[in-house]
Amino acid sequence: MTHFIFIFAKKYEMSEGFDIRKWFKNPEDLLVISGPCSVESRKQLIATAEGLSKIQEVKVLRGGIWKPRTRPEPFEGIGEEGLKWMQEAKERFGFLTMTEVAVPEHVDLALRYGIDILWLGARTVVNPFSVQELADCLRGCDIPVFVKNPIAPDVKLWLGAIERLAGAGMTCIGAIHRGFSSYDETPYRNTPLWEIPIELKRLRPDIQIITDISHICGCRELLQEVAQKALDFETRGFMVETHCNPDMALTDANQQIKPETLKKALDNLIIKKKNVDTDEFVLQNLRKDIDVIDDEILNLIAKRMNVSEKIGDFKKKHKVTVLQMDRWKTILEDHINKGAALGLNEESVKQIFEIIHKESIDRQL
Ligand code: PEP
Ligand code: MN
Repeated sequence: MTHFIFIFAKKYEMSEGFDIRKWFKNPEDLLVISGPCSVESRKQLIATAEGLSKIQEVKVLRGGIWKPRTRPEPFEGIGEEGLKWMQEAKERFGFLTMTEVAVPEHVDLALRYGIDILWLGARTVVNPFSVQELADCLRGCDIPVFVKNPIAPDVKLWLGAIERLAGAGMTCIGAIHRGFSSYDETPYRNTPLWEIPIELKRLRPDIQIITDISHICGCRELLQEVAQKALDFETRGFMVETHCNPDMALTDANQQIKPETLKKALDNLIIKKKNVDTDEFVLQNLRKDIDVIDDEILNLIAKRMNVSEKIGDFKKKHKVTVLQMDRWKTILEDHINKGAALGLNEESVKQIFEIIHKESIDRQL
């Protein structure tokens, strides 16, 4: 007896307009994906999309339909209805559309409403069962999928999700660096650990990586700086959350910006050329590197002062003197020696640490 197995391919047709498949093969131009954290209402989505349609670089409209809230919240995404508005925005403004899928039902609905690109969220990617379930559900439908890094800094987990999707026949898979959860206090909502996407790129040079600056920063103020840094690390594009009225956003209000703010931020970026052809570019690149390093130094000094204050509290509580001369002498000598081994001038290292130490002491008094 012969058994016939019918496999019904899921219906997926890439929309006309921006050729994302070409971008995957040759990502010469930056891919900018933008739109609200959550689709909230028809009015909100269309107004945001209209603002974004004036930014030439934005080719893909993102919108969260089902929201992975960290704690139970009344708003968990608008659901299926929002997909109709995504479809309307796509028809009106010519974007490709993109949404997050976390369970097979999301995939079915997203495809039914003509979503062009999917992404797997940071919380989904930590779970190989979920990823496999999604990959199985996508089998037979070669839709572009972006995989966010898992919240834990584990490159293998990230790689594993990409492999599961590739194993199910996806040929356009991208990765999104959105930072990692950290117990340490950092200025970021999710700390960017650039060495992890670099390692992913080393292991899978065929996978294009873009940066979700919104979820890294968690606030508006850091977006420009992190976007520039991402370019320095050769990101191929950005995901940025935008909202027509960011302060009123139902989710991630602190990090969303207006489309016009995104336009300014993109205009301010210094796009570095791979092949430097003028002296001016060499200088510009070096200065940008200096700016990034100086920011790191400032962040580290602030972190050090934080620790100093905690030590100050301990000293007060235990009635210990603030200045501990022996310890200070030992660490200064140690820093001077370590600095010398790194080729740094002894007197300069001494002066830098004297200033830092003085500030620490002042904070403990
Ligand atoms: C999002 O993009 O809105 C989102 C929830 O992202 P992440 O999975 O990176 O937290
Ligand atoms: Mn968000």
